[in-house]
Amino acid sequence: MCCNGVLFHSVLLQTGDSARALSAAGLKIKRKAGQEFFLQPCAAHRECQCAIYDRRPARCRLFNCRQLHRVTADETAEASALDKIAEARILVDRVNTLINHLAETNQNRALAQRCANALTTSDWTLLHGELQSTMQELETLLALEFRP
Ligand code: SF4
Repeated sequence: MCCNGVLFHSVLLQTGDSARALSAAGLKIKRKAGQEFFLQPCAAHRECQCAIYDRRPARCRLFNCRQLHRVTADETAEASALDKIAEARILVDRVNTLINHLAETNQNRALAQRCANALTTSDWTLLHGELQSTMQELETLLALEFRP
């Protein structure tokens, strides 16, 4: 979820990151207002793994989600963390299913952006309401349990 557009919509490059080297490794580096970044889902994310793990950018190296922090600090058991991840993934699957029912969205965009697009593509229906409430439930869970 850290790399596939669920938790984040972009990753900012940091001092020491080489945009040229990361581009050569397959990341699509963009620049806006002097800041280099790449969008999520990440082009290097393959089947739940990072294809450029040894060369990944600084933000990726430094990021640990809240669940990982809590497990490494002995504040929570690994099984509880896995339960939280499973809970989030169920909501992600539900959101994806609802989005796909409502509209064709760009798979290369973050989940929240695809959701926002799906909510505006046609007249409001019960499915729109269900998507909106499920996405809100997911965002609350991500904010409380995963994002720093
Ligand atoms: S470079 Fe690797 S760790 Fe960073 S977002 Fe992409 S897949 Fe994830």
